Amino acid sequence: MRPPYLLLDIDGVLIPFPDAEGSTPATHTCHDVVPTGRSADDPVTIWLNPAHGPMLMEVIRTGMVTPVWCTSWRQDAATLIGPLLGLPPLPHVDLPRPKITTSHPNGYLWKRDYVDTRLADAPAVWIDDDFTDLDHSWAAERTARGAATLLMQPDPRAGLQAEHVAEARTWAERLLAVRTGTPAAPSGTEAA
Ligand SMILES: [Mg+2]
Repeated sequence: MRPPYLLLDIDGVLIPFPDAEGSTPATHTCHDVVPTGRSADDPVTIWLNPAHGPMLMEVIRTGMVTPVWCTSWRQDAATLIGPLLGLPPLPHVDLPRPKITTSHPNGYLWKRDYVDTRLADAPAVWIDDDFTDLDHSWAAERTARGAATLLMQPDPRAGLQAEHVAEARTWAERLLAVRTGTPAAPSGTEAA
């Protein structure tokens, strides 16, 4: 039984946007990284919540999801961001670098067509801060035709919360239980 994909965005999810005063959350720690193609003497400052690594690993280790980065950081997600959170190298959706001035050039998230190709008919939980109503319709249509799809949309100024990870896990547990015919553990039940 193939576990659902867990598609994970970075900007607005693992790296929340600064608030109106330009401050980043107190939960997050700053790092300087050098993205691919950028000069080593021109690093980019990012901020990450060190709790996110263990939080995500707890779900990944269960094997109930197949984690894949889905971010404009592309392969840098696995080589620069993941290691700062203690995450193992994960695959990424191969996204192009379109010349766009909005995340929704066609009314829906620009990544979606590439995700659609990558997923084929696989179920997926996708965490991104930038979905539109058309994306939610797309998810509902996929679910209706048997490819269960859950979109989770953190507030980009707060980023990923423990509740998002818990909900993704519960959703995957229930999905796998339905597909294997075994009852899902009651919500909130933790393995010893
Ligand atoms: Mg984002």
